[in-house]
Amino acid sequence: MDTTGIEYIVKKVMDQIDYAEETGAPVVDGKDGVFQTMDAAIEAAAAAQKEYMKKPLALRRQMIAAMREIMLKKENVETICAMVVEESGMGNYEHKLAKHRLATTGTPGVEDLLTEAWAGDDGCTLLELSPFGVIGAITPTTNPNETIVNNSIGMLAAGNAVVFSPHPKALKTSFLCIKLLNEAIVSVGGPRNLIVTCANPTIEAANEMMVHPKVRMLVATGGPGVVKAVLSSGKKAIGAGAGNPPALVDETADIEKAAKDIIDGCSFDNNLPCIAEKEVVVVDQVADYLIFNMKKNGAYEITDKKAIDALADLVCPEGRLSRDFVGKSAKYIAAAAGLDVPEDTRVLICETSKDHLLAVEELMMPILPIVRVANVDEGIDVAVELEHGNRHTAIMHSKNVDKLTEMAKRIQTTIFVKNGPSYAGIGFGGEGYPTFTIAGPTGEGLTSAKSFARRRRCVLVGGFDIK
Ligand code: NAD
Repeated sequence: MDTTGIEYIVKKVMDQIDYAEETGAPVVDGKDGVFQTMDAAIEAAAAAQKEYMKKPLALRRQMIAAMREIMLKKENVETICAMVVEESGMGNYEHKLAKHRLATTGTPGVEDLLTEAWAGDDGCTLLELSPFGVIGAITPTTNPNETIVNNSIGMLAAGNAVVFSPHPKALKTSFLCIKLLNEAIVSVGGPRNLIVTCANPTIEAANEMMVHPKVRMLVATGGPGVVKAVLSSGKKAIGAGAGNPPALVDETADIEKAAKDIIDGCSFDNNLPCIAEKEVVVVDQVADYLIFNMKKNGAYEITDKKAIDALADLVCPEGRLSRDFVGKSAKYIAAAAGLDVPEDTRVLICETSKDHLLAVEELMMPILPIVRVANVDEGIDVAVELEHGNRHTAIMHSKNVDKLTEMAKRIQTTIFVKNGPSYAGIGFGGEGYPTFTIAGPTGEGLTSAKSFARRRRCVLVGGFDIK
């Protein structure tokens, strides 16, 4: 039997989970990176990282190449993406494939670690990027596999080991990714257990991870609760939190293109990405034409006020976001709302006030409220208000450089996309590398290997200056 093939690996992971669910006593063999307890996982990662420090950078590069290779294998990508859609009940399979490939190919590796130097009469000083050691990383349901791949490449490139605390709704997928990544590392002679997790990653286990003395850095990708938790830990922490990205359209924009870009961005993976357009703010003068063009691109407009409010009640009963509709398709949500929409509907659009629940909440589903404003200045005010100071992502369609600049200064988001779909901000049809951990609150921005490294000064006195 082929024990390296994806079918065998998936079966093994599933058998372990089934057994664990039946008996309550997880069967875990640490060699797949999955340990029975959080403590055992952290101890194994700490030992592996010690070993890793003795290895040359050449091995790091080889390991990362192997990690990319295993995650790009057609059968692996397809299995992982089908599994995550099924397990989490969210998102779009085709779009997941694209996101997974983007994370795998685009995440920077060892080349991200640039040394700085000063040389002069007093000698030569280097500023080097050095690992933290073991990093505890908490991952979301919305991009579980992409975040594991993206974090693993970045964190290992910087010389760390990583302990994941995956979201329970994406456990099987996360275990599979961790197993495959370990297999890739070991296949080129890298240490086992540089990427680990525990069999039952509950909130308690995450808390255990946060206080464990061998975990030197915490990285949380998720909503406000988990970001607050890591920032309260007393350890170095990176918080990649919630967004509510507005797309502002003014009268100078290419309206036909803006409409297409907004629908493309908003419908991507059923609006799961934290960067995806969550509401539109549009200058009255061009609003009707924008809506007309959105409809040409697969938007279905709900005009009845009662139907709009009923939709809000459905997806946010008693004013709180219902997870039942997060990451579902527009057709699914429409059916639940009793709306008969065309087969090719990609996004449900509706005009609302800026205070409407649909505009204020980070819905993470293809419902796009549209707020009309008198002019671009009012539009900037409304966009800033709807972004809630998250400093995450904003999009603007305009040809007015002054107003684009003003918006960028006022909204202060980590990502500001001009005249394109939101996903251009993570390197999909826009320049720059991708990340799935966008650290607005703590300021690292689009995280990469250098974000997971300590800056250390290495001083040689009185030599090595050859100027
Ligand atoms: P979530 O906050 O519900 O869960 C994220 C992770 O944190 C999960 O693994 C969860 O089990 C864990 N968790 C939650 N509360 C915790 C606590 N108090 N202590 C320890 N662990 C805890 O988020 P989600 O629904 O999985 O993801 C969606 C959210 O994440 C959205 O708000 C989205 O904007 C945000 N997000 C941000 C980024 C970014 O890069 N900034 C990327 C993806 C998702």
